[in-house]
Amino acid sequence: MEWKTIIEPFKIKSVEPLGITTREERLHILGTAHYNLFNIRAEKVLIDLLTDSGTGAMSAAQWGGIMTGDESYAGARSYYNFENEIKGLTGFDEVIPVHQGRAAEKILFTVIGGKNRYIISNSHFDTTRANVEFSGAQAMDFPVKEALDFDKPAPFKGNADIQAMEKFIKEKGAKNIPLCVMTVTNNSLGGQPVSMENLKGVQNLCRKYGIPMFLDCARFAENAYLIKLREKGYAQCPVREIAEEMFELADGAWMSAKKDALVNIGGFLAMNNREWSASARQLLILTEGFSTYGGLAGRDLEAIAIGLREVLDENYLQYRIRSAQYLGEGLLKHGVPIINPPGGHGVYVNAKKFLPHIKPVNFPAQALACALYLEGGIRGVEIGTLMFGRRDAGGHFLPASMELVRLAIPRRVYTQSHIDYVIEVFGCLAAGKTNIKGLEIIEASQVLPHFTAKLKPMGKGAGCSTKKSGFQK
Ligand SMILES: *Cc1c(COP(=O)(O)O)cnc(C)c1O
Repeated sequence: MEWKTIIEPFKIKSVEPLGITTREERLHILGTAHYNLFNIRAEKVLIDLLTDSGTGAMSAAQWGGIMTGDESYAGARSYYNFENEIKGLTGFDEVIPVHQGRAAEKILFTVIGGKNRYIISNSHFDTTRANVEFSGAQAMDFPVKEALDFDKPAPFKGNADIQAMEKFIKEKGAKNIPLCVMTVTNNSLGGQPVSMENLKGVQNLCRKYGIPMFLDCARFAENAYLIKLREKGYAQCPVREIAEEMFELADGAWMSAKKDALVNIGGFLAMNNREWSASARQLLILTEGFSTYGGLAGRDLEAIAIGLREVLDENYLQYRIRSAQYLGEGLLKHGVPIINPPGGHGVYVNAKKFLPHIKPVNFPAQALACALYLEGGIRGVEIGTLMFGRRDAGGHFLPASMELVRLAIPRRVYTQSHIDYVIEVFGCLAAGKTNIKGLEIIEASQVLPHFTAKLKPMGKGAGCSTKKSGFQK
């Protein structure tokens, strides 16, 4: 019997209370945080969907690994468990531990980046782009066209546009392109998966021009499971084999273990190229630590090794992917537009379409994120004009092409009733959405303004209130 209800495939051994506040308290908190949700203390958040990075719950087995972790400086047993697990999964010989994904990026692009070089990708994640550009190289994105049509469902919106990539390679010359990066799943464009067919196509292209292909594989297991669900020929294939096939196509990979390794901190860089890995290890020792711990504790390495096995459990992945779908379906029922279908790790709400009465220069996605906090104590993150932060000569924000609120779901943390609550709050927001007002900037830094910007509601009232009279005091 196939039951309709897909349950959380775990039971809860340790609990943590939620931060319960009243609407009145939240109105005050928003004011003192200057309508910037990064300034709110996490204990004042009820359901925190800010990110799925490092926010997951570890299993009893992982906590067991924490106790047995070997803290020897060099040659720790935990390092060899970590290395074995990653070698077995990816097939890469050179395994370098790092404290998180961006440390791998900094090291890799210091080795292979530099002026007059281009890195090509389906889409660079923002830390990847920042590290490519910091090295002096340029980060070029080649998403498929359907990725930009939010409403129209397509199974693999994370794919790369291979023709556009080839055109670019011919134009700039393969010798100026040291690397192609496939981000799985494609985080910047809605956590959308990449198909095996597209990975093979990109690999062929890279072979033809002698360009190595790496995976930025933070969510490799979610990507592999979505291949199983959506790509012809993979329905009967164990997810572990799909994941291994993905890695087989690549020449290397790096991972933020804070995602699909089910841990709170960690990462790795892995490859076959001995020359690159030797240079990378030198840099590792300079900033991260010796090559058998790379800025992590032995216990972290142990927990990662266990997490990389657990994440490929198909019962877990079924629940994981279903959670995002369930949230997406609930929002669509209330007429809330999303990037459709939902990605692997959460749902991206299209605020531009949801709040057409707010001009992009008045931060509709940030206004929605604040309204979500005010009404329900739920924290999402703006991906729009504030985050992209482009300014004209006079320092005024230029509208971004998209206004999204990302609701990222932490792994193994919230249950279905938490998600039902989020859907109910969105129902309330949808009913009163015309009362949600835009925001204005009080103060914003040049670099990464979304972390520190101060804003205020336009006109009188709470701005983000869905109540007609606003919330004046
Ligand atoms: C999170 C993430 C990174 C950066 O990893 P950190 O652990 O946050 O430094 C890089 N690429 C992708 C696709 C990510 O999701």
